[in-house]
Amino acid sequence: MSSTDPAPQFDETAWAEFLSEELGSRVSVRFGRAKSSVLRVVRTGRGELVVHMSEFFGRAPDEVRVSVARWLSAGRRARRSARDLDRWIDEALTREERAPIDPAKLSTRGRTVDLAELRDELARTEFAADFAASPPPAITFGRAGRRPARRSLRLGSYDARAHLVRIHPILDQDFVPRWFVRYIVFHELLHAALPHERGRGGRRIFHGPRFRARERAFADYARALEWEREHIEHLLRRPRKTPIRRARTGAWRAVQGWLFPL
Ligand SMILES: [Zn+2]
Repeated sequence: MSSTDPAPQFDETAWAEFLSEELGSRVSVRFGRAKSSVLRVVRTGRGELVVHMSEFFGRAPDEVRVSVARWLSAGRRARRSARDLDRWIDEALTREERAPIDPAKLSTRGRTVDLAELRDELARTEFAADFAASPPPAITFGRAGRRPARRSLRLGSYDARAHLVRIHPILDQDFVPRWFVRYIVFHELLHAALPHERGRGGRRIFHGPRFRARERAFADYARALEWEREHIEHLLRRPRKTPIRRARTGAWRAVQGWLFPL
């Protein structure tokens, strides 16, 4: 299956049949576009349930359909189903709001690496299971701009609204190994692949336990951190053709904290 194939459509009739079966009573389903009430249930005078849901539920995977059925029969008592459902709706809404990307504005081919090639290879290998139902993000080099200010330099970022990974053009230099750029692309794709992790009080965690575990399992993780530590000073300087010098002890530490804020 190609990674860009959409998930199979599960229409109003299929939903109604599924929910009637699960709940053991008659349920009808209406799709709508309203984002303000994504999922709403009305009980008619004759005891029939009418479920109004946004049409993106037509692309809901099996586990989401099961969560809807549990939520309908047990309400908020079905805590886990309600939480899974909230999370899936959150992500579906983010996808729905995505601004269309103009492919002509993407710059994927650098002097030394082709970002689209790296993204496609990672999508096939590391992320084969993650991007089976929905396509991986678009990718581009960010704009070079002026000399990067220390506090704003970020080697990569993932924009969930645009579903777009941006890689800093400073990485498109001869002395930067391809596997290091591949690691940065991996890190950003991981943000696109994993559902948001939440901490206490629902606060969003960008690099939560699941994220860290996947990252640590990446084959080049240790040597990528090591390379970054040794070359960060050189990367931060304006590109020029001087021999690579080792980073001054301690200097990289200050930099690491804000290198991957996203
Ligand atoms: Zn990150």
